[in-house]
Amino acid sequence: APNKKQPGAQRISVCVRKRPLTCTERRAGEADVVTALSGECVIVHESKEAVDLTEYILQHRFYFDQVFGEESSNEEVYRRTAYPLVQHMLNGGKATCFAYGQTGAGKTHTMLGSSPGRPGLYALAVRDIFAHLSTTHTRSPLLVYVSFFEIYCGQLYDLLDHRKRLFAREDGQKVVHIAGLRDVRVDSVSSLLEVISQGTEERTQGMSGVNPLSSRSHALLQIQLRRLNQQIAGRMWFVDLAGSERASDTKEPDRQSRMEGAEINQSLLALKECIRSLDQEQSHTPFRQSKLTQVLKDSFVGDSMTCMIANISPGHLATEHTLNTLRYADRVKEL
Ligand code: ADP
Ligand code: MG
Repeated sequence: APNKKQPGAQRISVCVRKRPLTCTERRAGEADVVTALSGECVIVHESKEAVDLTEYILQHRFYFDQVFGEESSNEEVYRRTAYPLVQHMLNGGKATCFAYGQTGAGKTHTMLGSSPGRPGLYALAVRDIFAHLSTTHTRSPLLVYVSFFEIYCGQLYDLLDHRKRLFAREDGQKVVHIAGLRDVRVDSVSSLLEVISQGTEERTQGMSGVNPLSSRSHALLQIQLRRLNQQIAGRMWFVDLAGSERASDTKEPDRQSRMEGAEINQSLLALKECIRSLDQEQSHTPFRQSKLTQVLKDSFVGDSMTCMIANISPGHLATEHTLNTLRYADRVKEL
């Protein structure tokens, strides 16, 4: 039934994933300052200098629904994060899975995977969706549709339609529509993955300067199940968020970068508030505070399930951003 939650499934789950040190970091002699403990606890060892200039280590401990260490595969992360959301969607529900974190912390590795043989959450979810559809026989068949767009500086661009500019509007029933958003019907795992890879290519093409565009924009993939009459029978969002470090960089040299940073800051703050409001008896969800939360409005009401995966880097040079990420994730979950 659409309004029933999966038994034991939580409405909001907040998880942390630590990636391994990269070869470059290893070669540069970076220290691993993050310990993932017992599945739920993560410790950051921050080196500090005392007034007498002696060094000491300050330990920061955080607790989450799940903590994944560098040994965890995408498959394991999928099982324990997005999988219950996919089941909820297949039961007619709405679900949203976010990858949050500093640029280079592993968001895209988690969502997209590193190669066709090492799939990420998109592909693992799609595999389960088609497996379910092929074994379940309903009176009216279910069709799978996918759309994929990017939000950059508060503006929407269709990744499946040559970056066409899109506009979100709220109708008389307060439902948000994205006018002209292309959605593609797909009938197999491989055709869906083909569509995703086209969109991803579109996303990385606009790369320029020091910060690739993909670190400055949010990428939103939606998978919808529809009946023949186009009635929606379940939907799921996967959101690869803009680099969270961009929200705290106020020392940017040029105006454009500062504007981008302010925009990202605003949307990540609004996102936190909107997710928190899911679990509270709050009549007002501040989804209008950013384009990101406006288009995701549906995710913050009713029986929606949400999972946030906060990705962190292990290296000591990233300590400050890692702590920022963990504090943000902590606030999302804390009531
Ligand atoms: P982001 O999308 O957050 O900017 P990426 O996903 O692009 O970060 O990851 C940065 C680098 O780290 C990539 O080279 C990626 O392959 C590697 N990486 C990220 N997460 C993992 C992981 N869990 N295991 C192995 N390598 C990873
Ligand atoms: Mg990325």
